[in-house]
This record gives sequence, structure tokens and C-alpha cells, in this order.
Amino acid sequence: MTMPTLLDVIAAAERLRGRIVRTPLVSSPSLSGTRTSSVFLKLETHQTTGSFKLRGVSNMLLLSGQNAKGFVAASTGNHARALAYAAQQMGKPCTVCMSKLVPENKVQAVQALGANIKIVGASQDDAQEEVDRLVLSEGLLAVPPFDDKRVIAGQGTIALEILAENPHIDTLLVPLSGGGLAGGIAMAAKSIKPSVRVIGISMAKGAAMVASLQAGKPVTVTEEPSLADSLGGGIGIPNHYTFDLCKTYLDDTLLLTEDEIAAGIRHAYRYEQEIVEGAGAVGIAALLADKVRSSGTVAVVVSGKNIDMAVHQALISENQKI
Ligand SMILES: *Cc1c(COP(=O)(O)O)cnc(C)c1O
Repeated sequence: MTMPTLLDVIAAAERLRGRIVRTPLVSSPSLSGTRTSSVFLKLETHQTTGSFKLRGVSNMLLLSGQNAKGFVAASTGNHARALAYAAQQMGKPCTVCMSKLVPENKVQAVQALGANIKIVGASQDDAQEEVDRLVLSEGLLAVPPFDDKRVIAGQGTIALEILAENPHIDTLLVPLSGGGLAGGIAMAAKSIKPSVRVIGISMAKGAAMVASLQAGKPVTVTEEPSLADSLGGGIGIPNHYTFDLCKTYLDDTLLLTEDEIAAGIRHAYRYEQEIVEGAGAVGIAALLADKVRSSGTVAVVVSGKNIDMAVHQALISENQKI
């Protein structure tokens, strides 16, 4: 299996030009302290569909989707939104398979972007089985959320934008789940600037990639509810690319408690005026919790904003010290 390279990422950036938002890299005085000389936020919260996932999905569809009848994926969240949008842009149908446990508001958000929704079974595994069935019976193209070269190359374009904007970045803080985002960014960033440190950040509860890196091979973990819901789920067994990428290119990983993640969401709102979902706030949270050892110029990938607004409201109105 050949791994995605910097050339794949550069080609993806060219392909995506004009189709995704080149999101802002903003300085964050509120997070810039003595330990870290300066902190910048890469705001994928401003990406179309509210997360970076559109980069990987669009790169795959542009590369491989021209002759497809349509697309299919099992996802409840940001991957589904991105796929629904990208398919609509191409004028092709898309089906998203979800278990019956997925809340109605999430179903509607994806439906509103024009996707057909198939409610099947009681777990993400059941939904994935339906995807495999639709690939065979309907000839749809399955679009994986992270473990695909085209998807990884798309996510890696974030590294090109950050280093083009600010070549002085020493450390990158990146949310970590399946590892398409962190693996793609770390590979691209280090291919351009080998001295860059890249740290993957997950929630303490059910971090599949961190457990796998510790075990030295892909392992499954029990999924648990977390404020960082977009970081839930396994890394796939077998895993084809992201485990090796993360093993090769990540310098370190960090785990955060739910309280620390909540503090990150609050800080983003109060000091940066940004609505950020739990998964998107982990880099900010790690800095606030003083868990990042490195110094120098830090770029934090703020990966998404799709949080249940009632949950967000409750979090920011808690009168906690931050
Ligand atoms: C999917 C997602 C992640 C994690 O990306 P992986 O490639 O699975 O590691 C992080 N943040 C948000 C907002 C996401 O939607």
C-alpha cells in the first residue's frame, strides 16, 4: 500500500481551489502567553458545511466521482454534511446510512443538504453493512471518512495553507480521531518543514488512535459519549493508511477530560467570538490546560463548529472560571 505524499496534497490543493474556503489563520492574543510566544488559530469553523471534512470529500469526488452513479457513506455528522454538499455541487445523488439511534436534528441537517437518508439497524456497524450492500446493488461509490489516500490528501491541504500563511509555525495542534486530519497534516507539514512538531489531541474517553498507537497496532475501544462527539468511533480494522501515518509523523498525543474540552469551547466563545464544537476546541483546551510542552509559535487547527446549539448555550452560560 503506497502512502499519500506531499505531491498528492499539492495536487489536492490545486484541485480544490475555488471549491472550498481558504480559511483564515488568525492570531489569538488571548492564548498567546509566556510559554508559547504566539498562538494562531486555523479556523475550519469557517469552512463550508462547518468543518474541514469538505476538503477530503471534495478531493475524492473530483478525482474519482466523475463516472459514479452516486455516492454513499455511513456517518452521522460532519462527513455526511460534507458529502451531501459535495455531491449536490456535482449534481449527483448521495445516500447517507444512519442507525436509528441518530438524533432527529442530525438526520434533518444532512437531509437539508439534499442527501437521501437510510435509517438502518441500531449501530454504526449496521449502517456500514448497508453501505457495502448499496455499493454492490446500486453501484454507488463509497466515500470513507478518513482511511483513504484521496481523503487524507484533501485534509493535508490545511498544512499547506498554514505554512504558506506563516512559515514560522513550530508546533501544530490537531484534533485526532480516525487520523485522516492529523495524519494528512503531519505528513504534509513535515515534508515541507521537518522541524515542525505535530501533536494529535483526543478526548480521554474512547480515543481509538491513541490506544492503537500505544498497542502498536490498530485496536478497538468502547465508544463513549463525549462533548467531542466528532472524535468518536474506531480507526478501522484493517486500517490501511492513517495508523501508519500517525505512527510515523505524530510527535506526541494528548488526552483531555470533558471539563477541559468544555473550557475550550467556552474560551473560544468568550475570547474569540467563535462557536466551536467539542472536537474543534481540543487544541485550545490543551493550551488552557497547560498540557502542551513545546514553546514557540503554535498553530491550532480548530476543526469544526457543528455543535447542538442547546448544548453550546448550556456550556457558555455555566458561570465557571476559565
Ligand atoms: C472528523 C473530525 C475530526 C477528526 O478527523 P479524523 O480524520 O477522523 O481524525 C476532528 N474534528 C472534527 C470537527 C471532525 O468532524
